[in-house]
Amino acid sequence: RKAEDEPSSEANINVVVRCRGRSEREKAENSSIVVSHPSTTEVALSMGPLASAENKIYTFDRTFGPEADQQRIYDHVVAPLLNEVLDGYNCTIFAYGQTGTGKTYTMTGDMSDNFGSYADFAGIIPRVLYKLFERFGKVDGDRSVKCSFIELYNEELRDLLSVEDTQKVKIFDAANGKGVVVQGMEETYIMSAAQGVKLLQTGSDKRQVAATKCNDLSSRSHTVFTITISAKLIAEDGEVLVRTGKLNLVDLAGSENIGRSGAENKRAREAGMINQSLLTLGRVINALVDKSSHIPYRESKLTRLLQDSLGGRTKTTIIATISPAKINLEETMSTLDYAARAK
Ligand code: ADP
Ligand code: MG
Repeated sequence: RKAEDEPSSEANINVVVRCRGRSEREKAENSSIVVSHPSTTEVALSMGPLASAENKIYTFDRTFGPEADQQRIYDHVVAPLLNEVLDGYNCTIFAYGQTGTGKTYTMTGDMSDNFGSYADFAGIIPRVLYKLFERFGKVDGDRSVKCSFIELYNEELRDLLSVEDTQKVKIFDAANGKGVVVQGMEETYIMSAAQGVKLLQTGSDKRQVAATKCNDLSSRSHTVFTITISAKLIAEDGEVLVRTGKLNLVDLAGSENIGRSGAENKRAREAGMINQSLLTLGRVINALVDKSSHIPYRESKLTRLLQDSLGGRTKTTIIATISPAKINLEETMSTLDYAARAK
């Protein structure tokens, strides 16, 4: 493993930025490019006509410009975490950013593609599934891989793998006081990467159908695709142990839903304009970074769901996605500010 692939942050939270190219619409509107990449760890925003004087520079663990393809993101951001998961740890990757900046493209990829093993437009989830089976080998009685796929909207959980359309998922505190129990969630054992990709496609289609009926669902909901790997090991003393690692791949609600004045804006909060899970996630991450004694996991469904994968011996990567265009500058700044606070 190359040194640059090692997650570097002490709190085991890595933050990277991915800036896409200008969209057709941004080009049609003649919105100029205001994001540049002075180095592989910096992003610069030109805030005005006096470019250099008014540049605002942010530093992250790694930054990617429009030339960075899906494979590059996989190699630098995902591959190191897959190693951790195979070693039995829990890891989470979040895609965070304004709607339309490439969260779903990064996590899932282009759905028109058939996600063949190394299809160019395949995102993190299909790539990780193929790589995982390449590394893990055949599943059998001693080794298993299972997936779940959940959507969270208005603090309600819905199972994207369930055959019943109305299946609601509930979270309870575990009876032993340790962690949470997720009730009613389908966990599907898979034998191959292709089978996992099929689940991703079925779940994404289901989400799409719902999003067409409810037009703010796609920007206001979060999805969590979880891959859990278990393997039986025989310890030196002959005892049989089960090593389990988990990778959560989270496509977050659009960052514009965090509300411009955050928690302070009571009216926006009452109107449901502020996304509780998105806001709490930020607080949980900040508390972890600050090594605070109280981590407010309980304040949202998302952070409760991911509680055993955030903090402690886990690794978390946030991929902040941004647009390069001037019309989105304000949202880009708030995305980068949120991401920078996670460092
Ligand atoms: P989000 O999920 O953040 O709302 P999407 O992933 O749906 O955004 O991306 C919006 C559009 O931009 C899609 O058509 C997607 O294919 C395209 N896109 C996003 N990021 C990239 C990228 N890095 N390279 C090429 N196309 C991209
Ligand atoms: Mg999306």
